[in-house]
Amino acid sequence: MHTEILAVRHADLSLGRGEAMVATSLGRQDGTHPIRSRVAPLLEGALRRRGLAVRSGPVQAVPPSDPLDPVLLAGAYTPHGATEQIAAVALAPDDGAARDAAQSALCEVEGALRSRTVLLASPRSFCAGVDRAIEIVERVLSQEGAPVYVRKQIVHNVHVVRDLERRGAVFVDELDEVPPAATVVFSAHGVSPDVRTAADRRGLRVIDATCPLVTKVHAEARRFAGRGDTVVFIGHAGHEETEGTLGEAPGQMVLVESAADVAALRVPDPARVSYLTQTTLAVDETTEVIEALKERFPALRAPHSEDICYATTNRQEALRAVTADSDLVFVVGSVNSSNSQRLVELSARQGTPAQLIDDASEIDPRRLHGVVTVGLTAGASAPPRLVEQVIDSLAGLGAISVEEREVTQENVQFALPRTVRAK
Ligand code: SF4
Repeated sequence: MHTEILAVRHADLSLGRGEAMVATSLGRQDGTHPIRSRVAPLLEGALRRRGLAVRSGPVQAVPPSDPLDPVLLAGAYTPHGATEQIAAVALAPDDGAARDAAQSALCEVEGALRSRTVLLASPRSFCAGVDRAIEIVERVLSQEGAPVYVRKQIVHNVHVVRDLERRGAVFVDELDEVPPAATVVFSAHGVSPDVRTAADRRGLRVIDATCPLVTKVHAEARRFAGRGDTVVFIGHAGHEETEGTLGEAPGQMVLVESAADVAALRVPDPARVSYLTQTTLAVDETTEVIEALKERFPALRAPHSEDICYATTNRQEALRAVTADSDLVFVVGSVNSSNSQRLVELSARQGTPAQLIDDASEIDPRRLHGVVTVGLTAGASAPPRLVEQVIDSLAGLGAISVEEREVTQENVQFALPRTVRAK
């Protein structure tokens, strides 16, 4: 990519050493209409990985005047089969190290230029439980005003949490951070009865955004424990959903994470054992654990219907439809999102490398070298707009054809709690 150095104008733009401003659009000196930079997120990520503090926004190139003005490193390029694209970054004028970093980041982006196919797994992204949980917080914010306290992340996605924080949500780890008598929203992952009791004791008004499919597992835990069973919970230690469900019958529930854990289980009565699972597990791995349980406890009792939820199952099935034909899979989701992590692992088990990305800025252009077909999906807590952003960034590297592979349609909806519906 041939780059030229221009001056830059941007409202209140002042850049110090080690700082950079990536142009999301560039207005040129000739006054032509600004060009949007589709690769801006990729450039942002490449610069951050080089240790720069990065912002982004529209910039206007102007003729150089004051030597203290930020400089703009800008390149226009036309990838094969695509229209003209731009990549541009503004820096402090005397920051040689940042300029070297920007040159190398631009080269990295240039090295990934080529036309590609994107195989889009469907269903992907938000599920009914996540939609409902976010809408609950939004409604409470508009009905009661900020701040609205939320215990734990409402759903496991950094973009969702940041967006709600900007609008006045305050995420807390524990209830003692919530002022007495305030309103608190419980997250989609559910809470143990102890947390409900603690909320009562503090006089908090609770609005429960627990996904109804998690609530169903809690009810099963109480029922199975109530009939005297040892309830084996298949899940991941430390996950909020696991902690909440185990809290329903702490003396009678045991956690297993793998078939190996089953061998080590000791129960008071092997004839009275039942099992439940976390809602976001890998279907194939969980089947192995259940088989191991059945072998150890032939009288094992199962839940009436699968605990792994429809959204988890559908996203895994949809991913299977794209992995075989993809060179690389991107899973949009946050690191603490269980169902997103399971998608990454599933792709690897299917023989296709996969990377979990919070957004397009986490795509390392070097990983795209030689990649012709990209598989793309998103965990149930990842907003659909982030998938669009990834597609747009890939389109900034060359012509793309997008093929959606839909394995099923989802039309599940969950009713909102009466307290937020009524107002
Ligand atoms: S992933 Fe499943 S259990 Fe979790 S919120 Fe979505 S629908 Fe509910």
